Amino acid sequence: MRIILLGPPGAGKGTQARILMEKYGVVQIAAGDLFRENIKAGTPLGKQVEAIIKEGRLVSDDITIRMIADRLDKPDCKNGFILDGFPRNVAQAEALEKMLHEKGIALDGVVQMAVNDEQLIDRISGRFTCSGCGEGYHDKFKKPAHADSCDKCGAKGKFTRRADDNAATVRTRLETYHSQTAPILPFYSARKMLKTVNGMADLADVTSQIEAVLAG
Ligand code: ADP
Ligand code: AMP
Repeated sequence: MRIILLGPPGAGKGTQARILMEKYGVVQIAAGDLFRENIKAGTPLGKQVEAIIKEGRLVSDDITIRMIADRLDKPDCKNGFILDGFPRNVAQAEALEKMLHEKGIALDGVVQMAVNDEQLIDRISGRFTCSGCGEGYHDKFKKPAHADSCDKCGAKGKFTRRADDNAATVRTRLETYHSQTAPILPFYSARKMLKTVNGMADLADVTSQIEAVLAG
């Protein structure tokens, strides 16, 4: 499986990527996660991008494309990958096309997860993650069985919320999606690669829809 999950912030890309990753033994390559790991580790890259991410703007194409190209060269991508949060504009989509062509890799599809803005704001404002294993949760839609411990890894008191999941930044991120990322849809549609699922459905239903569009 070699796919791109495309959709606005909060559409459920990370959630579905983790489900598919376990099911199909492929890796998730989430640009936002890679940036956050660098910020947490205090690397030069992390220092370079921290302020931009805090404001909800896009990191420069140069930095982002280089980071993804390096990640795709890692041996764990050989069995397949799910790109989540990359590409995020047409220049990145063009760079990815060139990069994959040079590496001799073909994509199975680009899956657009459609969710309306009102639901996105709800999803982002209720999102939290286990910093132990990365499992994602939601205050309303995906509560852990026990309030303070992770269903997946059992870690206690390790839930965190993202610094950029606040009302002001979310607005900027949604605007950025509509102005810069949505133009990728016709790019992939013209290449007959675009498949759309209803991201408003419940979690398991969205997974089934993704599997169905990729199969068909
Ligand atoms: P993205 O990676 O696209 O930014 P996430 O996968 O982090 O989005 O999902 C955002 C929030 O919405 C998370 O808290 C997640 O638990 C929740 N969520 C994801 N998919 C669904 C869904 N189909 N229905 C309800 N809530 C969902
Ligand atoms: P995400 O985790 O996908 O919501 O991304 C968090 C933040 O990381 C975004 O708001 C951007 O600031 C940055 N980012 C993630 N992916 C990209 C990308 N492909 N290009 C530029 N910036 C990105």
